[in-house]
Amino acid sequence: MKKQLLVLMALLTATAAQAKINVVATLPDFGALARAVGDDKISLTVLAKPTEDPHFVDARPSFVVALREADVLIDGGAELEIGWLPPLLQNARNSKIELGQPGRVQASEGVRLMEVPATLTRAAGDVHAMGNPHFGVDPIIAKSIAAHIARAFSAVDPANAATYDANEKKFEAAINAKLQQWGATMLPFKGQHVAAYHDSWPYFAHRFGIEIDVFLEPKPGIPPSPSHLAEVIEQMKAMHIKAVIVEPYHDRKIAERVASATGAKVVEFAQYPGALPNTGTYIELIDTLVSRLAAALR
Ligand SMILES: [Zn+2]
Repeated sequence: MKKQLLVLMALLTATAAQAKINVVATLPDFGALARAVGDDKISLTVLAKPTEDPHFVDARPSFVVALREADVLIDGGAELEIGWLPPLLQNARNSKIELGQPGRVQASEGVRLMEVPATLTRAAGDVHAMGNPHFGVDPIIAKSIAAHIARAFSAVDPANAATYDANEKKFEAAINAKLQQWGATMLPFKGQHVAAYHDSWPYFAHRFGIEIDVFLEPKPGIPPSPSHLAEVIEQMKAMHIKAVIVEPYHDRKIAERVASATGAKVVEFAQYPGALPNTGTYIELIDTLVSRLAAALR
Protein backbone atom coordinates (compact mmCIF):
# COMPACT_ATOMS: atom_id res chain seq x y z
CA MET A 1 0.00 0.00 0.00
CA LYS A 2 2.73 2.39 1.03
CA LYS A 3 4.66 1.57 -2.14
CA GLN A 4 1.60 2.32 -4.29
CA LEU A 5 1.23 5.67 -2.58
CA LEU A 6 4.84 6.51 -3.31
CA VAL A 7 4.41 5.60 -6.97
CA LEU A 8 1.31 7.78 -7.14
CA MET A 9 3.15 10.70 -5.57
CA ALA A 10 6.04 10.29 -7.97
CA LEU A 11 3.61 10.33 -10.88
CA LEU A 12 1.92 13.48 -9.60
CA THR A 13 5.27 15.23 -9.17
CA ALA A 14 6.31 14.26 -12.70
CA THR A 15 3.04 15.63 -14.09
CA ALA A 16 3.49 18.89 -12.20
CA ALA A 17 7.03 19.27 -13.54
CA GLN A 18 5.83 18.81 -17.11
CA ALA A 19 2.78 21.07 -16.84
CA LYS A 20 3.02 23.96 -19.23
CA ILE A 21 2.12 27.45 -18.14
CA ASN A 22 -0.96 28.91 -19.81
CA VAL A 23 -0.05 32.04 -21.71
CA VAL A 24 -2.52 34.37 -23.42
CA ALA A 25 -1.34 37.04 -25.85
CA THR A 26 -3.85 39.61 -27.06
CA LEU A 27 -2.15 40.06 -30.43
CA PRO A 28 -0.11 37.80 -32.73
CA ASP A 29 3.15 39.77 -32.45
CA PHE A 30 3.14 39.28 -28.67
CA GLY A 31 2.23 35.65 -29.34
CA ALA A 32 5.24 35.18 -31.63
CA LEU A 33 7.55 36.70 -29.02
CA ALA A 34 5.99 34.51 -26.30
CA ARG A 35 6.63 31.43 -28.45
CA ALA A 36 10.24 32.48 -29.08
CA VAL A 37 10.83 32.80 -25.32
CA GLY A 38 8.58 30.02 -24.03
CA ASP A 39 9.08 27.47 -26.82
CA ASP A 40 7.60 24.12 -25.69
CA LYS A 41 7.31 25.13 -22.03
CA ILE A 42 4.15 27.14 -22.62
CA SER A 43 0.64 26.51 -23.84
CA LEU A 44 -0.16 29.61 -25.91
CA THR A 45 -3.47 31.20 -26.87
CA VAL A 46 -3.44 34.24 -29.15
CA LEU A 47 -6.74 36.12 -29.11
CA ALA A 48 -6.69 38.24 -32.30
CA LYS A 49 -6.12 36.65 -35.69
CA PRO A 50 -3.14 37.96 -37.68
CA THR A 51 -5.48 39.30 -40.36
CA GLU A 52 -7.83 41.04 -37.91
CA ASP A 53 -7.80 44.79 -37.19
CA PRO A 54 -6.26 44.97 -33.69
CA HIS A 55 -8.44 47.95 -32.78
CA PHE A 56 -11.65 46.05 -33.52
CA VAL A 57 -11.25 42.38 -32.63
CA ASP A 58 -14.33 40.17 -32.52
CA ALA A 59 -14.48 38.87 -28.95
CA ARG A 60 -15.43 35.18 -28.80
CA PRO A 61 -16.64 33.35 -25.65
CA SER A 62 -13.50 31.18 -25.78
CA PHE A 63 -11.46 34.32 -25.02
CA VAL A 64 -12.96 34.58 -21.52
CA VAL A 65 -12.20 30.90 -20.85
CA ALA A 66 -8.59 31.35 -21.97
CA LEU A 67 -8.18 34.47 -19.80
CA ARG A 68 -9.73 32.71 -16.81
CA GLU A 69 -7.17 29.90 -17.06
CA ALA A 70 -4.18 32.10 -17.89
CA ASP A 71 -1.01 32.11 -15.79
CA VAL A 72 0.38 34.96 -17.90
CA LEU A 73 -1.32 37.62 -20.02
CA ILE A 74 0.63 39.74 -22.49
CA ASP A 75 -1.18 42.83 -23.74
CA GLY A 76 -0.06 46.08 -25.32
CA GLY A 77 -0.79 48.52 -22.51
CA ALA A 78 -1.23 51.45 -24.90
CA GLU A 79 -4.98 51.26 -25.63
CA LEU A 80 -4.68 49.26 -28.87
CA GLU A 81 -7.03 46.65 -27.31
CA ILE A 82 -9.12 49.14 -25.31
CA GLY A 83 -12.20 48.53 -27.44
CA TRP A 84 -12.44 44.82 -26.63
CA LEU A 85 -10.11 43.58 -23.87
CA PRO A 86 -11.42 45.29 -20.68
CA PRO A 87 -14.87 43.58 -20.62
CA LEU A 88 -13.23 40.19 -21.28
CA LEU A 89 -10.87 40.69 -18.33
CA GLN A 90 -13.79 41.67 -16.14
CA ASN A 91 -15.65 38.50 -17.01
CA ALA A 92 -12.57 36.31 -16.58
CA ARG A 93 -11.98 37.43 -12.96
CA ASN A 94 -8.44 36.07 -12.85
CA SER A 95 -6.35 37.75 -10.15
CA LYS A 96 -3.12 36.17 -11.52
CA ILE A 97 -3.19 38.46 -14.56
CA GLU A 98 -4.23 41.68 -12.87
CA LEU A 99 -2.06 44.75 -13.40
CA GLY A 100 0.96 44.64 -11.10
CA GLN A 101 0.94 40.84 -10.78
CA PRO A 102 3.94 38.81 -12.03
CA GLY A 103 1.58 37.14 -14.53
CA ARG A 104 0.78 40.38 -16.36
CA VAL A 105 3.07 41.73 -19.07
CA GLN A 106 2.27 45.08 -20.62
CA ALA A 107 4.38 45.31 -23.75
CA SER A 108 4.46 49.11 -23.63
CA GLU A 109 6.43 49.09 -20.37
CA GLY A 110 9.53 51.21 -20.99
CA VAL A 111 8.41 52.17 -24.52
CA ARG A 112 8.32 55.88 -25.29
CA LEU A 113 5.12 56.19 -27.31
CA MET A 114 5.27 58.26 -30.48
CA GLU A 115 2.61 60.80 -31.49
CA VAL A 116 1.41 61.43 -27.93
CA PRO A 117 -1.11 64.27 -28.25
CA ALA A 118 -0.59 67.41 -26.19
CA THR A 119 -4.12 67.07 -24.88
CA LEU A 120 -5.93 63.78 -24.46
CA THR A 121 -8.96 63.70 -26.74
CA ARG A 122 -10.99 60.89 -28.21
CA ALA A 123 -12.84 63.37 -30.37
CA ALA A 124 -14.20 62.15 -33.70
CA GLY A 125 -13.32 58.52 -32.91
CA ASP A 126 -9.53 58.85 -33.05
CA VAL A 127 -8.32 55.41 -31.89
CA HIS A 128 -4.78 56.64 -31.07
CA ALA A 129 -5.93 58.97 -28.29
CA MET A 130 -2.99 58.35 -25.91
CA GLY A 131 -0.28 58.03 -28.58
CA ASN A 132 0.53 55.54 -31.33
CA PRO A 133 0.12 51.97 -30.02
CA HIS A 134 1.68 50.12 -33.01
CA PHE A 135 5.19 49.78 -31.56
CA GLY A 136 5.58 46.02 -32.04
CA VAL A 137 7.01 46.38 -35.56
CA ASP A 138 10.19 48.03 -34.26
CA PRO A 139 12.62 45.10 -33.81
CA ILE A 140 14.51 46.90 -31.04
CA ILE A 141 11.28 47.37 -29.10
CA ALA A 142 10.48 43.69 -29.78
CA LYS A 143 13.70 42.73 -27.99
CA SER A 144 12.59 44.64 -24.90
CA ILE A 145 9.14 43.04 -25.02
CA ALA A 146 10.80 39.61 -25.21
CA ALA A 147 12.82 40.52 -22.11
CA HIS A 148 9.64 41.48 -20.19
CA ILE A 149 8.06 38.21 -21.28
CA ALA A 150 11.07 36.16 -20.13
CA ARG A 151 10.97 37.88 -16.75
CA ALA A 152 7.26 37.09 -16.31
CA PHE A 153 7.64 33.45 -17.40
CA SER A 154 10.54 32.99 -14.97
CA ALA A 155 8.55 34.53 -12.12
CA VAL A 156 5.55 32.30 -12.75
CA ASP A 157 7.54 29.16 -13.62
CA PRO A 158 10.93 29.40 -11.83
CA ALA A 159 11.78 25.76 -12.65
CA ASN A 160 12.26 26.73 -16.30
CA ALA A 161 13.84 30.16 -15.73
CA ALA A 162 17.15 29.15 -17.30
CA THR A 163 15.39 28.02 -20.49
CA TYR A 164 13.40 31.26 -20.77
CA ASP A 165 16.54 33.27 -20.23
CA ALA A 166 18.48 31.32 -22.86
CA ASN A 167 15.64 31.56 -25.41
CA GLU A 168 15.32 35.29 -24.84
CA LYS A 169 19.06 35.78 -25.39
CA LYS A 170 18.87 33.69 -28.55
CA PHE A 171 16.03 35.89 -29.88
CA GLU A 172 17.96 39.03 -29.03
CA ALA A 173 21.04 37.74 -30.84
CA ALA A 174 18.96 36.82 -33.90
CA ILE A 175 17.49 40.34 -34.06
CA ASN A 176 20.93 41.89 -33.61
CA ALA A 177 22.29 39.76 -36.45
CA LYS A 178 19.47 40.91 -38.76
CA LEU A 179 19.39 44.62 -37.90
CA GLN A 180 22.41 45.45 -39.99
CA GLN A 181 21.02 43.65 -43.03
CA TRP A 182 17.61 45.32 -42.69
CA GLY A 183 19.26 48.71 -42.25
CA ALA A 184 21.43 48.18 -45.34
CA THR A 185 18.41 47.20 -47.46
CA MET A 186 16.51 50.34 -46.42
CA LEU A 187 19.48 52.73 -46.54
CA PRO A 188 19.04 53.80 -50.21
CA PHE A 189 15.53 55.05 -49.37
CA LYS A 190 16.52 57.16 -46.37
CA GLY A 191 14.20 60.15 -45.94
CA GLN A 192 11.68 58.97 -48.55
CA HIS A 193 8.00 59.52 -47.85
CA VAL A 194 5.50 56.69 -48.02
CA ALA A 195 1.70 56.67 -47.72
CA ALA A 196 -0.32 54.21 -45.64
CA TYR A 197 -3.98 53.42 -45.15
CA HIS A 198 -3.71 53.55 -41.33
CA ASP A 199 -1.03 55.14 -39.16
CA SER A 200 0.46 51.80 -38.05
CA TRP A 201 4.07 52.41 -39.05
CA PRO A 202 5.79 55.32 -37.25
CA TYR A 203 8.03 52.99 -35.21
CA PHE A 204 9.00 50.91 -38.25
CA ALA A 205 9.65 54.09 -40.26
CA HIS A 206 11.70 55.65 -37.48
CA ARG A 207 13.82 52.51 -37.13
CA PHE A 208 14.61 52.35 -40.85
CA GLY A 209 15.00 56.04 -41.65
CA ILE A 210 11.93 56.65 -43.80
CA GLU A 211 8.78 58.76 -43.31
CA ILE A 212 5.42 56.98 -43.43
CA ASP A 213 3.36 60.11 -42.91
CA VAL A 214 0.51 60.42 -45.40
CA PHE A 215 -2.64 58.50 -44.48
CA LEU A 216 -5.73 57.44 -46.39
CA GLU A 217 -7.70 57.60 -43.15
CA PRO A 218 -8.32 61.23 -42.13
CA LYS A 219 -7.81 60.15 -38.49
CA PRO A 220 -6.81 56.72 -37.16
CA GLY A 221 -9.93 54.57 -37.22
CA ILE A 222 -11.98 56.95 -39.41
CA PRO A 223 -12.72 55.60 -42.93
CA PRO A 224 -11.38 57.62 -45.89
CA SER A 225 -13.76 60.21 -47.32
CA PRO A 226 -13.71 61.32 -50.98
CA SER A 227 -12.60 64.86 -50.05
CA HIS A 228 -9.77 63.55 -47.88
CA LEU A 229 -8.64 61.13 -50.61
CA ALA A 230 -8.53 63.99 -53.11
CA GLU A 231 -6.17 65.84 -50.75
CA VAL A 232 -4.07 62.70 -50.26
CA ILE A 233 -3.70 62.27 -54.01
CA GLU A 234 -2.47 65.87 -54.40
CA GLN A 235 -0.08 65.44 -51.49
CA MET A 236 1.31 62.17 -52.86
CA LYS A 237 1.91 63.71 -56.29
CA ALA A 238 3.64 66.72 -54.76
CA MET A 239 5.82 64.51 -52.56
CA HIS A 240 6.57 61.95 -55.31
CA ILE A 241 5.35 59.11 -53.11
CA LYS A 242 5.95 55.71 -54.67
CA ALA A 243 4.22 53.34 -52.26
CA VAL A 244 0.90 52.99 -50.40
CA ILE A 245 0.91 50.52 -47.53
CA VAL A 246 -2.28 48.53 -46.99
CA GLU A 247 -3.03 45.92 -44.31
CA PRO A 248 -5.20 42.79 -44.69
CA TYR A 249 -8.36 44.34 -43.18
CA HIS A 250 -8.20 47.59 -45.16
CA ASP A 251 -10.19 48.35 -48.28
CA ARG A 252 -7.64 47.46 -50.94
CA LYS A 253 -9.75 48.99 -53.73
CA ILE A 254 -9.43 52.44 -52.19
CA ALA A 255 -5.66 52.04 -51.94
CA GLU A 256 -5.56 50.89 -55.57
CA ARG A 257 -7.57 53.91 -56.70
CA VAL A 258 -5.15 56.24 -54.94
CA ALA A 259 -2.18 54.33 -56.33
CA SER A 260 -3.42 54.48 -59.92
CA ALA A 261 -4.16 58.21 -59.59
CA THR A 262 -0.61 58.89 -58.41
CA GLY A 263 1.55 56.23 -60.08
CA ALA A 264 2.39 54.67 -56.69
CA LYS A 265 2.40 50.95 -55.95
CA VAL A 266 0.18 49.24 -53.38
CA VAL A 267 2.33 47.34 -50.89
CA GLU A 268 0.63 44.64 -48.85
CA PHE A 269 1.94 44.93 -45.33
CA ALA A 270 0.97 43.46 -41.97
CA GLN A 271 1.87 44.11 -38.36
CA TYR A 272 1.41 40.51 -37.37
CA PRO A 273 3.39 37.33 -37.96
CA GLY A 274 1.27 34.90 -39.96
CA ALA A 275 -0.72 37.53 -41.88
CA LEU A 276 1.51 37.34 -44.97
CA PRO A 277 2.97 34.17 -46.57
CA ASN A 278 6.08 32.77 -44.85
CA THR A 279 5.90 35.10 -41.85
CA GLY A 280 5.39 32.58 -39.07
CA THR A 281 8.06 34.15 -36.87
CA TYR A 282 8.70 37.74 -35.90
CA ILE A 283 11.98 37.83 -37.81
CA GLU A 284 10.38 36.42 -40.97
CA LEU A 285 7.74 39.16 -40.73
CA ILE A 286 10.27 42.00 -40.55
CA ASP A 287 12.29 40.34 -43.34
CA THR A 288 9.19 40.35 -45.53
CA LEU A 289 8.23 43.96 -44.71
CA VAL A 290 11.72 45.26 -45.43
CA SER A 291 12.04 43.42 -48.73
CA ARG A 292 8.51 44.30 -49.93
CA LEU A 293 8.95 48.01 -49.17
CA ALA A 294 12.42 48.13 -50.70
CA ALA A 295 11.07 46.46 -53.85
CA ALA A 296 8.29 49.07 -54.14
CA LEU A 297 10.63 52.02 -53.59
CA ARG A 298 13.40 50.81 -55.89
ZN1 LIG B 1 -4.03 52.14 -35.03
